[in-house]
Amino acid sequence: MAKPHHDFLIIGAGIFGLSAAIELRKRKYSVSLLNPGRIPHPLAASTDISKVVRMEYGSDRQYFDMAEESIAGWHEWNALFGEKLYHETGFLLLCREPMEQGRQSFERESFRLLQEKNYRPQRLDAALIQKHFPGVGEGQYVDGFYNPKAGFVESGRVVERLAAYARQLGVDVFEEKTAARLVESAGRITGVETREGDTFSAGQLVVCAGAYSPLLVPELQAVMRATGHPVFHLKPGKPELFVAPQLPVFAADISNSGWYGFPLHPKDKVLKIGNHGPGISLHPELDERIISETDIARLRRFLRETFPSLADDPIVYTRRCLYCDTFDGHFWIDRHPRLGGLTIGTGGSGHGLKMAPVLGRLIANAAEGKDEPWLTRFRWREAAGNAGIEEQARMVTEY
Ligand SMILES: Cc1cc2nc3c(=O)[nH]c(=O)nc-3n(C[C@H](O)[C@H](O)[C@H](O)COP(=O)(O)OP(=O)(O)OC[C@H]3O[C@@H](n4cnc5c(N)ncnc54)[C@H](O)[C@@H]3O)c2cc1C
Repeated sequence: MAKPHHDFLIIGAGIFGLSAAIELRKRKYSVSLLNPGRIPHPLAASTDISKVVRMEYGSDRQYFDMAEESIAGWHEWNALFGEKLYHETGFLLLCREPMEQGRQSFERESFRLLQEKNYRPQRLDAALIQKHFPGVGEGQYVDGFYNPKAGFVESGRVVERLAAYARQLGVDVFEEKTAARLVESAGRITGVETREGDTFSAGQLVVCAGAYSPLLVPELQAVMRATGHPVFHLKPGKPELFVAPQLPVFAADISNSGWYGFPLHPKDKVLKIGNHGPGISLHPELDERIISETDIARLRRFLRETFPSLADDPIVYTRRCLYCDTFDGHFWIDRHPRLGGLTIGTGGSGHGLKMAPVLGRLIANAAEGKDEPWLTRFRWREAAGNAGIEEQARMVTEY
């Protein structure tokens, strides 16, 4: 069945698709948006109880600036929606060695950039870590810092609010619709056919299907893949040690261990911990997303060292969530080089959610063929001879 024609048709209602739909609608285009199942979709990367918002990207000034602007945007959304979606608990970065040491370059460079931009992160030593963050085990971490200008967002709730806001602005949101095939005519993409038997047509298409995007645009398979990453929710026996400010959002020697986490969640009363590491390659539709005994053993070992009082507390929920991992860890935002009427907005690579307040503008500018400095690194690019993941918080070797 043919559906009404729009200027823009967005595929996928995660944070990339919703922010793009809202921005394009604000630019007075008619916009429609498709998503399978309900929004937020339970398997979407954007759907979760919390995601980290940080300016700390090592020496990477562009991501620092993007995150800085995003934090201002999160405060605006808190005000616009009249709800605390972004919790500015601050960010604690723990180092196993003095920050001057080579393996702590992520923390050292992040600290330097914060100071350069006139923020006042508090440098910590082993004694100060114990004094301010009593849940952290003694003896493991000898250096680090606390930056009050950071925190977490309730990402699933954000998706709910942005979907409602998109509808309010006049975006036609279609749930229970799965794009199956892009319709091409004379070298131009003119719409999609869905698994449900519909045909949607539009002046332009924007594919924001996260880890599923390479299934719709096969040429992306050469430059990105779906990788699965473990998430754990624990029920602490001593919750008082893990509520903010006793425990803010934290990264525990993250570029070498991958481990990061959150304070006790204000609503769900659980403590979420994840690992920002290499992950495992998965097919987004065919492979199971399970957490193994080895994953749990690795978590317990980490807890025993870092949060001893949590070491044997119950795990009440686990999830293996998918990154849409580009070969270099940078987002993928550009028009298709060969097919007209098609723009891609994806490649979050495990760090895209925090940038939601600026993503819509980037994707809309790319779709309109407008340029801006931040888009340069997200343009269509070759994987040949690449240096691998460049996002400096990411642990790139097997743990
Ligand atoms: C474990 C984990 C932890 C993370 N932690 C952080 C963090 O702390 N901070 C941070 O900034 N980022 C974090 N990220 C990254 C962040 O979640 C992602 O970069 C971001 O959510 C990606 O958004 P998206 O819109 O591209 O994809 P998604 O949120 O996955 O949305 C894609 C949407 O497309 C839909 N879709 C799929 N196929 C089709 C189709 N054929 N037709 C129509 N719709 C379709 C899906 O249902 C889904 O709703 C994390 C990611 C994971 C997996």
